[in-house]
Amino acid sequence: MTDATTPAIRLTGLRKSFGAVDAVAGVDLEIADGEFFSMLGPSGSGKTTVLRMIAGFELPTAGSVFLSGQDVTRLAPFERDVNTVFQDYALFPHMTVQENVEYGLKVRGVARAARRAQAQEALASVRLEGYGRRKPSAMSGGQRQRVALARALVNRPRVLLLDEPLGALDRKLREQMQVELKQIQRDVGITFVFVTHDQDEALTMSDRVAVFESGRIAQVGTPEEVYERPASPFVAGFVGTSNVFTGDTARSLFARDGVFSIRPEKIDISSDGAPGVVAEVVYAGPVTRYVVDLDAGSRAVVVSQNRHNGSPLVARGDRVHLSWHDEHVVEIPPVAKETADA
Ligand code: ADP
Ligand code: MG
Repeated sequence: MTDATTPAIRLTGLRKSFGAVDAVAGVDLEIADGEFFSMLGPSGSGKTTVLRMIAGFELPTAGSVFLSGQDVTRLAPFERDVNTVFQDYALFPHMTVQENVEYGLKVRGVARAARRAQAQEALASVRLEGYGRRKPSAMSGGQRQRVALARALVNRPRVLLLDEPLGALDRKLREQMQVELKQIQRDVGITFVFVTHDQDEALTMSDRVAVFESGRIAQVGTPEEVYERPASPFVAGFVGTSNVFTGDTARSLFARDGVFSIRPEKIDISSDGAPGVVAEVVYAGPVTRYVVDLDAGSRAVVVSQNRHNGSPLVARGDRVHLSWHDEHVVEIPPVAKETADA
């Protein structure tokens, strides 16, 4: 029934309404076996609801969920080869790490020796070998998060669903865990579906990203595709910062009608190009951000790396010119929600 081309997950016409709220308003998606797939979108865009329908915690209002080719839409969570890691992963505080990881196996009647071995393997896969006897309270936030991960990996699900699992960690730890999670996923070879509202997180770890907007997928692609070729002004604005030019400004800068987007790091302050006045200079460590009021109307943000001593190229009030390469101008197709590509 399954072969290398059968997607690990297939969603067709998936919808979920809560009363008058269309939390998920028609999602079609295929996620390949072994993929690290992220669902990225603002709060309330329907990511968690999609995840809960894949897990079986929520029954779709319409549409179907297939796992490895099997229609599981009406199956209970425990009948699906899927595990979930939530943001508020609750470890049992009175149990050791080892007991926490073994718990699910114990409930399912796996014999003690096999339990022990599988739990140790799961702890090794999250680089916590030797920590089995500790209590969760004697571990750091990042370590506890990895215990939660080991607990979800221990019975080798085909698919692991992660709902903002790094949300509770501080920034430094989160960045570290992003790299580790990706490595762990590569090692265990399980399909990961990772929900986040943090674009850096999605871009850093994923093979592909789906950008959610109001219960629909606005764009699906590799991090590079989604970042470099945003399919709509929403995607251009949500994934990273982008300058989006429309109307008179667009006509003046590009000599035709349309919606055009240029990333701030693709723009140079130079001796010729589009004229404007510097409205703001924001020093941010590795980069400086310049906000420029263009004579053509509208504002442009320029980001420049502080490769030398970090002193700004220009000051507030200076007249400047902005230039860019044509290939970095992305023409965004007119908004057509019904044709969100999958
Ligand atoms: P996200 O995870 O992207 O933040 P959610 O899937 O949690 O979004 O929510 C999508 C929309 O559905 C929101 O408007 C939310 O308020 C609503 N919603 C989610 N779960 C429920 C529920 N159990 N009852 C009523 N409304 C819900
Ligand atoms: Mg959510």
